[in-house]
Amino acid sequence: MANTTLMPIAGHSDPVTTPRDITPREDGRVDLMGLPRPRIRELFEAAGLDTRQAKLRSKQVYHWLYHRGVTDFSAMTDIAKTMRPWLAERFVVGRPKIVEAQHSTDGTRKWLLQTDDGHDYEMVFIPDADRGTLCISSQVGCTLNCTFCHTGTMRLVRNLTPGEIVGQVMLARDALGEWPKGRMDGFGDDGGGDESGDDQEGHYTADGRLLTNIVLMGMGEPLYNFDNVRDAMTLVMDSAGLALSKRRITLSTSGVIPMMERCGAEIGVNLAVSLHAVNKGVRDEIVPLNKKYGLEELLQACADYPGATNARRITFEYVMLKDKNDSDEDAHELVRLLKKFNLPAKVNLIPFNPWPGANYECSDPDRIRSFSNIVFEAGISAPVRTPRGRDIDAACGQLKTAAEKKSRAQRDREAAEAAAAADE
Ligand code: SAH
Ligand code: SF4
Repeated sequence: MANTTLMPIAGHSDPVTTPRDITPREDGRVDLMGLPRPRIRELFEAAGLDTRQAKLRSKQVYHWLYHRGVTDFSAMTDIAKTMRPWLAERFVVGRPKIVEAQHSTDGTRKWLLQTDDGHDYEMVFIPDADRGTLCISSQVGCTLNCTFCHTGTMRLVRNLTPGEIVGQVMLARDALGEWPKGRMDGFGDDGGGDESGDDQEGHYTADGRLLTNIVLMGMGEPLYNFDNVRDAMTLVMDSAGLALSKRRITLSTSGVIPMMERCGAEIGVNLAVSLHAVNKGVRDEIVPLNKKYGLEELLQACADYPGATNARRITFEYVMLKDKNDSDEDAHELVRLLKKFNLPAKVNLIPFNPWPGANYECSDPDRIRSFSNIVFEAGISAPVRTPRGRDIDAACGQLKTAAEKKSRAQRDREAAEAAAAADE
């Protein structure tokens, strides 16, 4: 058993490192990706623009950057022609590096991405008839070690920056060809005075819209990296930015209670809670964070979550583990708890996705059906989530990078070689 007494108090500080908001580049230019407008303005002023110019240019660049997805300053047509190379000499608009892109037979797409300092992380796009959901990561790895989750077995953990988080959404829009199209004819080359750009937005239309929803259900615990997640989602929700409604964003947490209230107050996105068990013994075992933040306390925090109403119910995720948490009694207890706390709830039953070395099996389909029926008959919706993208390892809890798998294989080989050498 690991000695956890030295771990920082969860929720009160980030347990893992976060790089600075701007990663230094070899060419000396500054990557604007993930920065909010006031920070861009500050950088423009520091680079020599006067206050008025910095204000105007930061507004324009912000629009091109987050609303239109443009990465090339020379394509920012409302910015004075002489100003564009000036910007390009000093700044860049980056994207996460793609290591690998995979396409499942069911339409699911997965991207393996890499940070500038060489860490791999993943995002998944899941198209459905009526929506397209992008599942994004908030950390490389995860410190929480839920026993059924592959991500939790990664040794290395680092928080993703706001740029790396919002960058996933931007990259998906690039890949899906979903940026608002059309020319900004009304803008012209203003030479620096006019700030009335916003009313020109009717000149182009946002078409397509395959990507309609975002879920923070990839790698990592988003409430252990809340500040960066909040900053990234603020750009996503800004009507002058990516302009996606908070109602279409869902943050999934394993139950970091001290951060839940801030999440509701500061970004107000939909909440999903990884419940997975209805008594202390089982939840302590499979979601070890439960030892710190118990079940009843967690359900109370859900009841207090700002914005939780019948129209915006909290999703309770429940992974179906054979003979562990899947009995009829468990289902009845789940209903009792949700009713006791008067929660506007829906339950998402997730068939366990096995991975090599996992100590669990997925519940039988009949068992899952029986569990679902009990919850459903109590008036709470309890759909069974269909695993998607299994052929490309894109399903829930499978996000553990190829590089990590490789390094483990490498380690295994080294261990075998060492054992063989010792035998000689
Ligand atoms: N850390 C956050 C969000 C990422 S995990 C959280 O735990 O909520 C997204 C969901 O996938 C969680 O409900 C998680 O418990 C579930 N999950 C993890 N591993 C899984 C597996 N092997 N099979 C099925 N679901 C899994
Ligand atoms: Fe982390 Fe969520 Fe996996 Fe638990 S289920 S280890 S909190 S990513």
